[in-house]
This record gives sequence, C-alpha cells and structure tokens, in this order.
Amino acid sequence: MSEDIEEVARRIQASKRIVALTGAGISVESGIPDFRSPGGLWTRFDPSVYATFESFVNDPSKFWSMASELHPLLENATPNPAHLALSELERLGKCEAVITQNIDNLHQDAGSTDVLELHGTYRTGTCLACGCRHQYDEIKQTGWFGEVPSCKECAGVIKPDVVLFGEPLNAPVLHRAVELATGCDLMLVVGCGLEVFPAASLPTYARRNNAGMVFFNVASTAFDDLADIIVLGKAGERLPEAVEAYKALAAVREN
Ligand code: NAD
Repeated sequence: MSEDIEEVARRIQASKRIVALTGAGISVESGIPDFRSPGGLWTRFDPSVYATFESFVNDPSKFWSMASELHPLLENATPNPAHLALSELERLGKCEAVITQNIDNLHQDAGSTDVLELHGTYRTGTCLACGCRHQYDEIKQTGWFGEVPSCKECAGVIKPDVVLFGEPLNAPVLHRAVELATGCDLMLVVGCGLEVFPAASLPTYARRNNAGMVFFNVASTAFDDLADIIVLGKAGERLPEAVEAYKALAAVREN
C-alpha cells in the first residue's frame, strides 16, 4: 500500500466529522466529461454563450442544444467506485455529508443520503414564466433535441434547476455547506478543479478551523498548498483504496 493512502486511512480513523467536497472529476469515470480538462465541455462550448443566466434568457436554445449532448450522458451514467466509496464511508460513520458541485445525482444513486447539491440538479426544471416545477421525464416529452422545452401549464420556457453562471446559489444549501466545512475535522476534496466560487472557498473555511485536508485529483490545482495530502490518480481507483485501507486499520483496532 502506498504511503499517501496509509496516511489518508489514519486521518479517516482519527477524524470525527468528515465531509467530502466533490466536483466534476469524480464523475469522469462514469462517462461524464469534466469542464476544464483538455477536451472538456468548455473547450467546445463557450460558457459565456451557453451557460450564463443572461444568455439563457436571451436565447435558451443555445443552452438546450448543449444539454442535448450532455443529457444522454447524464441519463445513462451510473455511480463509479469513487461514488460508492463515499457512500460506504457514510455507512461506516465516516462521512457526515457530501457537498457536490455536480448536477448528475450519482452520489444519491450510489446511496449517499446527505448530499448538498451546490449547483442544483438536471433532474428537474422550472418554468421561467409561471414557476411551475417539471420532472426530467416531462421536460424530455415537451421538447428535446434542438427544441426548447416548454411548460405544459403556460407554454413558458423551462430552465433546468442547475445554477448557471450569474445565478445565485440556493441560500440554505450554501449556508449548510459553509457550516459543514467550518465544523468538519477532515475534508476530502475529490475531483474538484477549485476554480468556481463560492464552492472553491469551502476548503479555506475548513482549513481556517484546522481541519485536515486531502485532495484526490489526477492533476494539481491552484489550491494544492491547502492540502495535507494530495493523492494523485483516478478517484475511482484511489478513493476505494483509501476506504479499504481505513477498513483494514479499523479491523486491526477492533481485534
Ligand atoms: P472542473 O472541470 O473545473 O475540474 C474537474 C477536476 O477534476 C480537475 O481538477 C481534474 O484534474 C479533475 N479530474 C478529472 N478526472 C478525474 C478523475 N478521474 N479522478 C480525479 N480527478 C479528476 O470541474 P469542477 O471543479 O467540478 O467545476 C465545474 C462545474 O461544472 C461544477 O461546478 C459543476 O457544476 C459542473 N459540472 C458538473 C458535472 C457533473 O455533474 N458530473 C460535469 C461537468 C461539470
């Protein structure tokens, strides 16, 4: 077992309040590309044209044309070993909550029960005209590939319940995320580029209160100096390794 994994296992064992912060990288092995890696979505779709609230209101067809590429991937994706490792940590009493930037529902599909979706979800949408809520299956029926889905009540434009650039985050969700970050004694930061605020500031909140910090990533980030341990490699391989190492350590303690 590598030294970094052994050290992560020891930290997990010693910590009482562990919180995970996850980003697009954790779902790459489920077949959903991240945004900023080479070949990622933003290298093909300029976010200022396709993913700001203002651009959505001016021309929602741009967003929905991008979504028609992304949504089949989201629909068909299943949790990978990294998502499953976090839900197992929760069952072991070692993951209080998962704060995610992802909109893909894969933590919930993996069995994590306390998931804070900072950037919302693709599974529902809201009519911009009347505020009526729509489920994903309905949205698909009212209009899809190339078309803008419309509200069955008033024919208004449906916006997915994902947070676009320029939109505020859901205040209670953000408030609880800050509370969790401030109160934890270990934060596992998995597949986060840490370039999108306020999510990127959560490790700083944790650090201010002396929480331990472990980054799981395939590459370095601008915030690497916040981490005690940087576990390089695919989250779907390294995170399960860490959880297995912790379980082995806990079993030794019990005997
Ligand atoms: P990002 O694209 O900015 O960064 C992804 C990070 O994951 C990078 O640091 C990359 O090095 C790392 N990474 C890539 N593959 C990995 C792997 N197999 N294992 C471990 N790390 C890996 O993504 P972000 O920081 O999450 O921010 C982008 C925003 O885009 C998010 O806020 C989110 O709302 C949205 N987004 C969501 C999804 C999704 O729901 N799955 C996918 C793409 C983007």
